[in-house]
Amino acid sequence: MAEVLVYVDHVDGAVRKPTLELLTLARRLGEPVAVALGPGAENTAPALAEHGAVKVLTADAAEFGDYLVVPKVDALQAAYEAISPAAVLLPSSAEAKEIAARLAVRIGSGIITDAVDLEAGDQGPVATQSVFAAAFSTRTRVSKGTPVITVKPNSAPVEAAPAAGAVEALTVSFSEKATGTKIVSRTPRESTGRPELTEAAIVVSGGRGVNGAENFAVIEALADSLGAAVGASRAAVDAGWYPHSSQVGQTGKSVSPQLYIASGISGAIQHRAGMQTSKTIVAINKDAEAPIFDLVDYGVVGDLFEVVPQLTDEIKVRKG
Ligand code: FAD
Repeated sequence: MAEVLVYVDHVDGAVRKPTLELLTLARRLGEPVAVALGPGAENTAPALAEHGAVKVLTADAAEFGDYLVVPKVDALQAAYEAISPAAVLLPSSAEAKEIAARLAVRIGSGIITDAVDLEAGDQGPVATQSVFAAAFSTRTRVSKGTPVITVKPNSAPVEAAPAAGAVEALTVSFSEKATGTKIVSRTPRESTGRPELTEAAIVVSGGRGVNGAENFAVIEALADSLGAAVGASRAAVDAGWYPHSSQVGQTGKSVSPQLYIASGISGAIQHRAGMQTSKTIVAINKDAEAPIFDLVDYGVVGDLFEVVPQLTDEIKVRKG
C-alpha cells in the first residue's frame, strides 16, 4: 500500500488536533507515515500510533527552534526522499503552509492549500476546496509530481485506528539556506485559556453590534459556557474592541468550526469568507434583513444583549 507523509504539528510532544484529523484523511489514501520535528518529537508517537500512523519519523536539532521554517523544510524533504510517498499532507497553519509551499517548489510538485475534504481518486488524491468567499466548492487534483496538500482544521473527524507507530530517527542535513533567518526573540501570546481560534470546535464572534470593548464580556461569557474560542468582525477589531488576532474573515483568520455563533455581525462578504464553511451557523441580529441570515442554519432576530445572556444562562443550566 502507498505511504502518505503527514507533517505533525505538536507542542513539546503534545500532538495538536488538526494533525489527528490529517491522519483520518491520510488513511483514505494509504498508510500514514508521520514526521515529527523538534523538542519532544519522539513523545508524539503514542498518539500518532493510536490514530493510524504506521511509522513516526522523528528528528530534533537546535536549528528547528533557532531559525524560521527552512530547517523543517529540509527535514520534510529528507523524509519525502526516504519513503517516496503518494502524497504529503500538512495542517493549514501559517507555518505549515509555508513549509508546504517551499517543499512543493523543491520537489517540483503541485500544491493544494486549505482543502476541506480529501478522498482517493483514480489519478491521485482529490481535494475539496471552498473558494470565492465560499461561494463555490471545487474538487481539485494535482497533476504534476507528488501532491502536497494542506487541510483546514475541523475538516475531518478524529478517529481511533491503532497502528504500529514505530519510531525511526530521520537523518537530516541542513542546507545553507536553513540558517539564513535567525529568530532573535520570542514573545509568548497572553493565554486566554480558550481554544485556538482556527482549531476550535465552537467559535462565538461579536461585531459592531457589540458596541464597545467592555461589552465583549457578554460574548466571552457565552464562549466560556460552551468551551469556545472568541472571534470578532473587522468592524469590532478596527474599533479597538478586540485584538486583530481574533479577526475572522478575508483579512483575518479562516475558521471552520462545528458551530459558529455570530452576534451583532451583518454578514459582509469579507466576513463570510472566513466562516462560511462552518458546519452549523447561528446568528443573533436585531435587523431581520441582515445578510447574515441568508447563510445561517438558525437565526435569532433580537437584541444580542437580551438574547446572548439568556443563551449563556440556559447552557449553564443544561450543563449542570
Ligand atoms: P456592521 O456591518 O456594521 O454590522 C453590525 C450588525 O450588528 C448589524 O447587522 C446590526 O443590525 C447588528 N446589531 C447592532 N446592534 C445590535 C444588537 N444590540 N443586537 C443584535 N444585533 C445588533 N470584515 C470582517 O469581518 N473580516 C475581515 O477579514 C474583513 N476584511 C475586509 C477586507 C477588505 C478589503 C474590506 C474592504 C473589508 C473587509 N471587512 C472585513 C469589512 C467588511 O466589509 C464589513 O465592514 C465588516 O465585516 C462589518 O462588520 P460588522 O458586521 O461587525 O458590522
